[in-house]
Amino acid sequence: MSATGTFDDAALPPLGADEIACDVLVIGAGTVGMAIALRLQGEGRQVLVIDRKGVAAEASGGNAGALAFTDIMPLAAPGIMRKVPRWLFDPLGPLAIAPGYLPRIAPWLYHFWRASWRDRVKKNTAAQAALMDLSIIETDAMLTAAGASSMVRSDGVLHLYESEAEFAASQPGWQARADHGIEFEHLHGARSIAQLQPGLSASLVAATFLPAWKTVSDPMQLTLALARRVVDLGGCLRRAQALALAPEAEGICVRLSDQRRLVAQRVVIAAGAWSHHLARTLGERIPLETERGYNTTLPVGAFDLRRQLTFDGHGFVVTPLTCGVRVGGAVELAGLDAPANFDRAAVLLAKAKRFMPGLATEGGTQWMGFRPSLPDTLPAIGPAARDARVVYAFGHGHLGLTQAAATARLIADILSSRPSAIDLAPFCPQRFARAA
Ligand SMILES: Cc1cc2nc3c(=O)[nH]c(=O)nc-3n(C[C@H](O)[C@H](O)[C@H](O)COP(=O)(O)OP(=O)(O)OC[C@H]3O[C@@H](n4cnc5c(N)ncnc54)[C@H](O)[C@@H]3O)c2cc1C
Repeated sequence: MSATGTFDDAALPPLGADEIACDVLVIGAGTVGMAIALRLQGEGRQVLVIDRKGVAAEASGGNAGALAFTDIMPLAAPGIMRKVPRWLFDPLGPLAIAPGYLPRIAPWLYHFWRASWRDRVKKNTAAQAALMDLSIIETDAMLTAAGASSMVRSDGVLHLYESEAEFAASQPGWQARADHGIEFEHLHGARSIAQLQPGLSASLVAATFLPAWKTVSDPMQLTLALARRVVDLGGCLRRAQALALAPEAEGICVRLSDQRRLVAQRVVIAAGAWSHHLARTLGERIPLETERGYNTTLPVGAFDLRRQLTFDGHGFVVTPLTCGVRVGGAVELAGLDAPANFDRAAVLLAKAKRFMPGLATEGGTQWMGFRPSLPDTLPAIGPAARDARVVYAFGHGHLGLTQAAATARLIADILSSRPSAIDLAPFCPQRFARAA
């Protein structure tokens, strides 16, 4: 922060000696935490945000930049568990489980399996659609509040298929979207695809275009814009690591890694893939896992990209950003501690080159990020079981950028005891404890 109080850098000043009491404490300065801070500060609360690293230092800084409002289908589809052996034995495939991590992730996979039952998929899709409808409205409002509306591209996304069989297999998902009023257009043949994106391989025979999908110009810059606005409105952003929470009469006591104690009247846990560690200190076990994802950001001009492209069969997307062309995706279930395996980023880049022959693959920067994922593809938004002064806002998986503004609205509703904008039951943080 500069002397004028303007936030101008992703790094954060350390928490001062006199800053250990606050109204609302937000733990985590990713896009979700910053959206919440902006909303609450805008509603007149006094907000302190702490992050152990900085603004957008984890998943929020390097993601694919999609405002994927039409992405309402849960990851756990009926019959998906039959694919688990393939995930174990194809370490560089679009979805992989590190074999040594299987025992650790077994409880998450159990809930994932249950979420794949047909009736649950239907219910979860409806809940996701409701959250997406709210996201469309609240994202616009958030961008306006942050003066960041120009950071959004509204040119849709193109899902691409290598065969008519692959296209046919995608139809149930499109039907489910149509049932929720989502508009799309199917395209067949290289010539009609080329009208929306020239320069693709002729092996891509079909596509689906979704006009309502948007992308941001750079997810890191967008989150920084939110942070700057929070500070302009009088909010405070500091570097500190929370270790444990304890409800006391005077407020929620948060033990920090430097052994200081911070006292807040309300605490929002928005610590991404690490949030369950903090919930655990309140006695709750929440089956949060990380779906690690990889990408490579190529220099500006690496391809004449007209809009975001999605290669569903291979689990990666290609996004036009102001900082370059970002190629990546994939899911690796290997936990928070295993070192990154950047061969995965290289594999995705090689695949992209196959489908985009003119892609200049030199000079890229590789990145790995930790998606915070719950087994049913829905986030946890709601009070902690032990003390309602603590509220959870995490587990957005592949959709944290997309759903940050809607989550902020719902958290603000909870903290001010207003009726919630949408039914919160599907997002109840305790839903897995009840289902166990
Ligand atoms: C490859 C990839 C592509 C993606 N593409 C998209 C996309 O196109 N669209 C989309 O909507 N989503 C996408 N996502 C998902 C999206 O990035 C995440 O859902 C989102 O960034 C999560 O935001 P968050 O604020 O919850 O978590 P994070 O961004 O991870 O932020 C959490 C913050 O909490 C801090 N923290 C953690 N523990 C503590 C502690 N104890 N004390 C203090 N601070 C702490 C961390 O330092 C971190 O800064 C993608 C993810 C990946 C990996």
